[in-house]
Amino acid sequence: MESVQLDNRSDVKTEINFDADISQLMHLIINSFYSKKEIFLRELMSNASDALEKIRYASLTDESVLNDESNLRIRVWVDSETKTLVIQDTGIGMTRNDLVHSLGTIARSGTKQFLESLNLNKDNKNSSNVEQIGQFGVGFYSSYLVADNVKLYTKHNNDVEYIWESTSNKTYTIAVNETPRLKRGTEIHLSIKDELSEYLNINTVKETIKKYTEFINYPIELLESKEIEEDETLLSTTDKEVASSEDDSNSDEPKIEDYDDEAVDKNVFPSSKKVKKMVDEWKLLNETKPLWCRNPDDISKEEYNNFYKKSMNEHSDALCYKHFHTEGQLELNCLLYIPERPQMDMFETQTKKTNIKLYVKKVFIMEDCEELVPEWLKFMKGIVDSNDIPLNVSREILQQNKVVKMIRNTIVKKSVELFTELSEDKEKYKVFYDNYSKMLKLGIHEDKKNKDKLI
Ligand code: ADP
Repeated sequence: MESVQLDNRSDVKTEINFDADISQLMHLIINSFYSKKEIFLRELMSNASDALEKIRYASLTDESVLNDESNLRIRVWVDSETKTLVIQDTGIGMTRNDLVHSLGTIARSGTKQFLESLNLNKDNKNSSNVEQIGQFGVGFYSSYLVADNVKLYTKHNNDVEYIWESTSNKTYTIAVNETPRLKRGTEIHLSIKDELSEYLNINTVKETIKKYTEFINYPIELLESKEIEEDETLLSTTDKEVASSEDDSNSDEPKIEDYDDEAVDKNVFPSSKKVKKMVDEWKLLNETKPLWCRNPDDISKEEYNNFYKKSMNEHSDALCYKHFHTEGQLELNCLLYIPERPQMDMFETQTKKTNIKLYVKKVFIMEDCEELVPEWLKFMKGIVDSNDIPLNVSREILQQNKVVKMIRNTIVKKSVELFTELSEDKEKYKVFYDNYSKMLKLGIHEDKKNKDKLI
């Protein structure tokens, strides 16, 4: 391993060796057959969100750090010509020192744990280790699950703009960007591998971002194309159309141009000539503020039920719900629902999955987090968002985690309160009793049938 000489001369492009641990990690990622490659978006988007949080935090004591007045936001776009996916944030950015220490050496605990577990399992075949990548996260380096080259532009208030680039697990380069493109923040260009072109499809990118990071605190904007119709006369004056919700004069964003002037109807009287054309526009992806992080006093019953139906895949309203907040020893936002009808597999203990989704600081982590509810409460639906669990938590860690045990106890206590409330509403309680006991009878019946079969 070569020691890194910090060279602050701004006119040099320096080639630097990765720290040996990072090199090992990247080798594994570059050569992995791990199927859930989409997690790279979760990692990069949450890094962008962290960077925005850092500059926002700094601005609380010194407003001047937001010197360029640009919005705190994340923008994502695809450049089909260069087969590149770009993620840009207006966060804190990185100095040259940050680049070397954050992206070239191993600092963070999750990645360390991942490497330690690799060392423990040295005798196993590589493939079983690779499966752990998704569980551990591995942060920025997960870019190499989908990209064969990563180029990053970054600008911190206290430094000039740099370009960091690497194609391999051995070295990376850092150079001053002579033609700066950012006022502040970071822009990551991922050259997507040929066989993974789905990540150049804006809809795939959109769905993946929605799945993992729809509820982060900052706006996420996606560059999308849409067809519009326009008068030809008007077209000639505004030939290069830009459709955007705000002033996009910054040089750090892609040029937005129409690229298909077709279908001019020649038979129509000139003054009414319509032309179809494609324009690109920034579309806000995360309009929904995470309901569970809002103040319960500001949320209507209708909002709770709409959210329930949309995010829990239900057709009817929940029988009742509980929304609570804990602080101090355990910082938690939680939303629990009792469905009107239990799922068909309610009594199948082997296959039945939990319906509690786990989020960590508004980033989606797991669909069915078994560790959070006891067996007898598995029919409950809801969301748990913890500030005390690491983002890159694995199932194994969850099983031993003290915070998880505390969350589980809290959920049991709150569920019992919810049942007491339900029992006080005679009408609803009858619906609950009828629907759930019907399922119980069916369950017993099925169970008996299976036992009979075995005899
Ligand atoms: P983690 O985010 O868990 O620390 P990563 O490997 O994802 O691990 O990132 C390493 C470090 O690189 C981060 O802690 C942060 O200091 C820096 N970093 C990564 N992405 C960004 C970004 N978009 N803006 C600013 N700093 C970043």
